[in-house]
Amino acid sequence: MFGKIEHLGIAVKNMDEAEPLYTRLLGSAPYKREMVESEGVITSFFKSGENKIELLCSLDESGTIAKFIEKKGEGIHHVAFDVEDIHAEMERLKKEGFVLLSEQPKKGADNKLICFVHPKSSGGVLIELCQEIR
Ligand code: ZN
Repeated sequence: MFGKIEHLGIAVKNMDEAEPLYTRLLGSAPYKREMVESEGVITSFFKSGENKIELLCSLDESGTIAKFIEKKGEGIHHVAFDVEDIHAEMERLKKEGFVLLSEQPKKGADNKLICFVHPKSSGGVLIELCQEIR
């Protein structure tokens, strides 16, 4: 079972332009910028009330975020859900016929174990599972 929406992921072309834009939009500055080399991205996190927004910017032109922007333009990239036990949820989703993008959870930004569900198997929406690393 999924928990709350942990964050929304938004693909941006240029972090130095996107951060001030979202700072003006949300009325508060990002609380963290973090490079996730395993995913080829720089991330920047904003809080909005109890919710979080993650900006994602590709480290190079061949990265998945760069390819996403090439195809679809900047905008909402994924919806991340909080889960208690990521291994159990990955097993459950596999049994339900969903396609996972990795066999094992990966270390994501913001102290999380993460796994993505292929949007082709989840109605066109890229879904991220997030488990807090305790
Ligand atoms: Zn995310």
